[in-house]
Amino acid sequence: MPIGGAFRRAAEAAPVLAQGILKDRATLLDYIASSLAADGKAIVECCQKETSYSAERVQGEFRRMLALWTTFAEVVRNGGWLEARIDAAQPDRQPMPKPDIRRMNVPVGPVVIFGSSNFPLALGVAGSDPVSALAAGCPVLVKGHPSHAGTSELLRRAIVRVIQESGFPTGVYQQLEGESYELGQALVRHPETRAVGFTGSLRGGRALYDIAAARPDPIPVYAEMGSVNPQFVFPDILAESPEAFAERLFGSVTLGNGQFCTCPGLVFVPKRAGLDVLIKRYISLAKSAKALPMLNGGMSTTFADGVTAWKRLAGVTLHVDRPCTNDFAVSPVLAQTDFDSFMTHRDGLLEEVFGPATLLVVCEELAQFNTAAAVMGGQLGASIHSQSGDTQLLMLALQRFAGRIVVNGFPTGIETTHAMHHGGPYPATTHSQFTSLGQSAIRRWLRPVCFQDTPNLWLPEALQDDNPLGIPRMMDGVNAAH
Ligand code: NAP
Repeated sequence: MPIGGAFRRAAEAAPVLAQGILKDRATLLDYIASSLAADGKAIVECCQKETSYSAERVQGEFRRMLALWTTFAEVVRNGGWLEARIDAAQPDRQPMPKPDIRRMNVPVGPVVIFGSSNFPLALGVAGSDPVSALAAGCPVLVKGHPSHAGTSELLRRAIVRVIQESGFPTGVYQQLEGESYELGQALVRHPETRAVGFTGSLRGGRALYDIAAARPDPIPVYAEMGSVNPQFVFPDILAESPEAFAERLFGSVTLGNGQFCTCPGLVFVPKRAGLDVLIKRYISLAKSAKALPMLNGGMSTTFADGVTAWKRLAGVTLHVDRPCTNDFAVSPVLAQTDFDSFMTHRDGLLEEVFGPATLLVVCEELAQFNTAAAVMGGQLGASIHSQSGDTQLLMLALQRFAGRIVVNGFPTGIETTHAMHHGGPYPATTHSQFTSLGQSAIRRWLRPVCFQDTPNLWLPEALQDDNPLGIPRMMDGVNAAH
């Protein structure tokens, strides 16, 4: 598809979406959910074939994707995301009158989204980024990941069918396919693009971010990239339930064959009673696990390269390291190092090894948890495992670098809720203030506009005196009932 035509259609669709009735936009999202559900069998089958994920995994992700569309339809109807604020004029204020000031969010315009490889449904061409962008009122140009082009095409058909039937312009949602970096780079460079959403590698996200920053008019790139999601295990867990902990850790590391951005890739453990039991149980689980295929050959090679890089570092030993078999299949890997070696090689060891691998860092002293936390780069998630430990300092340290802190659990498995934050300081993402999952994801695609002394009839409905949309608003700094 020539991108000039696609951007022309997107530019034509932008005002239609932005100025359209919110109720209609919400209904469009609900209809798309129904259309996707109607094509569910074919989509799930194709996705399973293209990804080698289990039926259970794909069906779960499919349900999650459908829920995104209906959830964001509700978000649109509620109108809270417009963040309408009104500060009344005070004509008699001394020494000078105060003007009437009103503010609300508006959509940024056409956005480019790169569908992720590892979540073809929940973070793909019909996943969180395109749904939240459409909810915000932004036309979407989405580039599907080549690892599952057939699935993306089926999703596209189900979405486009509804857009055509409901009379919205075709530029509301367009999908572009191509396995060349030039296409993605041209999309980011195009003058009509107002923002970019991306999920993938640090290398890819950073390349697109740099291209966007070098434009004559730089635009935001919301890239969600690598993360090792450090886990801190306190002595009480080792003393009380080392085997159960090993099983839960193994379950989290191998979920989706480790192809989750929230995979716990680094585990700090104290050298205390129970550690040997934990390691022994993990090794036995890893040794009896079947090798499973990664999404594509590139990922299995990158995984093997990452494990080889660990092996080359002095002080790092591998407990389980079974070589890649055929068909991109890899087996779980467990590595171990000590605190001093971790500190020496931390740059290398903080790089994500994308797949079913985790590295134990054995600490002599609990204070070393805080030292390690102090050198940690931005992370999507981090966990503390303890029922009774003194975790106060570590809790503070984690807030410096992590987007989400989990207690006695693992970061894998993300709820799509209002309070969810799936983000984190660089290099986990390029914008730590924004989330890619949860209802707040809509904020990526909005910008505020302030209206000063504007006559009521000239104002958007969201800011008019009698609140015709019936949305929640803030009046003179106080949340008003609606
Ligand atoms: P990727 O290589 O970053 O690619 C993701 C998307 O970005 C693809 O559509 C790709 O285009 C595009 N892209 C990448 N580099 C680009 C560049 N320099 N210029 C223009 N476009 C570019 O990620 P991936 O293919 O999903 O997986 C590769 C590795 O990324 C994995 O092995 C893993 O390490 C990591 N990964 C991390 C996460 C996470 O959430 N942390 C998720 C997925 C992958 P093409 O389609 O043209 O190739």
